[in-house]
This record gives sequence, structure tokens and C-alpha cells, in this order.
Amino acid sequence: MSTIFTQIVEGEIPARIVYEDETTVAFLDANPLAPGHTLVIPKDEYERLNDVPADVATDLYDTIHRLVPVVEDVVDADATTVAFNNGEEAGQEVPHVHCHIVPRFEGDGGGPIHAIAG
Ligand code: 5GP
Repeated sequence: MSTIFTQIVEGEIPARIVYEDETTVAFLDANPLAPGHTLVIPKDEYERLNDVPADVATDLYDTIHRLVPVVEDVVDADATTVAFNNGEEAGQEVPHVHCHIVPRFEGDGGGPIHAIAG
């Protein structure tokens, strides 16, 4: 059984896809912590960052690096929290590596988001 994110990659379930290339895809989180909350994933299914081959990790980082300023610009955010929940005990609910890009705004509580709830 493939993960829900693989089903998004395959077009089997709908998502608001905001970026796609050969190895990565980004889409809006279905339960956003803030407007513009975006998830970036490798198209291939790896459970944890630890499992991601170096070349795919490079592609993933390139996409994150490209999208952070775009997300900030689109929702006029002051900053972003960029984070992975890497493993179940760290709060990872979907077993398919994903990076959260969460827009942050002055006065939204401040400080890092210690646990990005799924
Ligand atoms: P985690 O807790 O695994 O780090 O985060 C999983 C994230 O995936 C959560 O923020 C959750 O809202 C999001 N999510 C779960 N299922 C879906 C889905 O079917 N579509 C989209 N767009 N996001 C999802």
C-alpha cells in the first residue's frame, strides 16, 4: 500500500500542487498551520531522511531552497519555519519524507515551532 503522498504524486488523490520537477513535488498542506503551509517531498517513497539517497536529498534541498522565498512572498510572511518530523517519535505521521514550509508572521506566537503537529 503506497503512502498518501505517493497517491498525490500519482494523481490518485487531489492536492494543490505548487511545484513539480523530475524528482520532487510540493503541495499545500491539507491542514495548514498558517496560510501557504507547503510540503515538499521526493516523488519516490522513502520513510525517513536517513533513507534518502544523496542525489535525491540534493534535489529535495534545491526545491526547498527555491520555494522558501516564493512561499514567503506569496503570503507576505515575515519568516518561515522549515522542518522535518523525522520518525514517528518526532511526530511524523505520514511515512513518506516531507519538509514543512510554514509561513510565520510577526506576533504569531514567536519562537520555533517545536512540534509541527500532523
Ligand atoms: P507530519 O506530522 O507527518 O510531519 O505531517 C504530515 C502533514 O501532512 C500534516 O501537516 C498533514 O496536515 C498533512 N497531510 C496529511 N494528509 C494529507 C493529504 O491527504 N493531503 C495534503 N495536502 N496534506 C496532508
